[in-house]
Amino acid sequence: MCGIVAVSGNPEAARLAYLSLYALQHRGQEAAGIASFDARTGSSHRHREAGLVSDVFGEKTLAGLPGDVAVGHIRYSTAGGAGLKNAQPIRETYRGGSLALVHNGNLTNANLLRERLLNEGSLFQSTIDSEVIVHLIARSRAATAEEQVLDALSQLEGAYCLLVSVDDVLYAARDPYGYRPLVIGALPGGGLVLASETCALDIVHATYVRDVEPGEMIRIRGGEIERVTRIPKFASEAQPCVFELVYFARPDSRLWGYTVDRARRAFGRRLAGEQPARGADIVISVPDSANSAAVGYAEAARIPFELGLIRNHYVGRTFITPGQAGRDSKVRMKFNPVREVLEGKSVVVVDDSLVRGTTSRALVRMLREAGAREVHFRLASPPVRWPCFYGIDMPTREELIASGKSVEEIRDYLGVESLGYLSLEGMVDTVRENGESYCVACFSGDYRAPLADAAEGLAMSSHC
Ligand code: AMP
Repeated sequence: MCGIVAVSGNPEAARLAYLSLYALQHRGQEAAGIASFDARTGSSHRHREAGLVSDVFGEKTLAGLPGDVAVGHIRYSTAGGAGLKNAQPIRETYRGGSLALVHNGNLTNANLLRERLLNEGSLFQSTIDSEVIVHLIARSRAATAEEQVLDALSQLEGAYCLLVSVDDVLYAARDPYGYRPLVIGALPGGGLVLASETCALDIVHATYVRDVEPGEMIRIRGGEIERVTRIPKFASEAQPCVFELVYFARPDSRLWGYTVDRARRAFGRRLAGEQPARGADIVISVPDSANSAAVGYAEAARIPFELGLIRNHYVGRTFITPGQAGRDSKVRMKFNPVREVLEGKSVVVVDDSLVRGTTSRALVRMLREAGAREVHFRLASPPVRWPCFYGIDMPTREELIASGKSVEEIRDYLGVESLGYLSLEGMVDTVRENGESYCVACFSGDYRAPLADAAEGLAMSSHC
């Protein structure tokens, strides 16, 4: 997963993009970058580096990014996909002008397109799927930059939210299924800001204007929307990703018409109805992603919510191997139990999702060592059985605990008194006030956007 932002029509474009990226840090911690275009001098600028937004940018680097237009990106850490050459924005000069591009999502036909482009003579600088888009734009025979971008988009399959600047013009696009979020806000000092989540608008005091709708391409210049075009459609119906609501987005963001916190609390309440834990003394969450769901569960079950696990927010990436500290030390670096809260208690632990099961297993052991008498594990989403091809970093089927084990086998593996998942129907019903339809492929295996690369046996690029 990644996070993207853009600013148009504001002399502080790069600074505002920086602040917005800061609010999107949860969507990626591997690398950050911003590109700007200065119309007065006709020059383009870029700074990107591995690391957190706060490490990558300072006064000096931001001063080197002048102009009214900026695009920014933060990259999620994926196995082996590191390296500066894979950091965004991608920036190139082509016949249409100076181009900078940021992408959130995963294309499902990128490798096929890449093979074709390589055969036609294209030279690639990175291994990310997003670079394919730049080549498609540059090689398009269409006359204008807008048509070239549209021409490229019409060849893409899978998930993308894109922000592309060509000189001082900004193009924003969301794939026809609308897998990933992209919102538009109006800046108080003039101009527009676009970002993956609304929390990135709040930080710059921008007012939410609207979502970029699935299948839309919007042309923006000088902070004004100039034109909205439809991307030729593959899909019959939008399928935004339900896992953004379950886990990925920040609880203070508004997504798919729901405040994420409200949606998660509702998942928790529904879970309490479907999977009660009679006689339990307290409900705790696995912080922070399950906090809202645990509050909802506690409220509906009328069991007190307690802070039984504390999360260390300064963990970052470590390459030091656990050694003597033991195999649970990675989890111990992140969480610590509160003995006074847990001792002698029958505890309901609410987590948002179970992926490999390794974190949860170590957590259960930790809770028992801290004196918990009983542990009842509850998940505010259904069993994750299928990998995601549309941008959520999920392991292979073999690594997903629920794809090979029954609920009873998982209960046994975790070592808990009881285990209960929210049903697929329960999850989707909770966030279908207006009849919305979601991508639930990681739970159901029902992949709607074609998986051309996977069908050809081509390795999926480890992007976001
Ligand atoms: P696991 O030990 O693999 O079962 O880890 C489960 C935990 O990972 C849960 O607490 C989730 O909040 C978190 N999680 C779920 N999906 C992802 C993801 N795609 N990337 C990183 N963490 C995730």
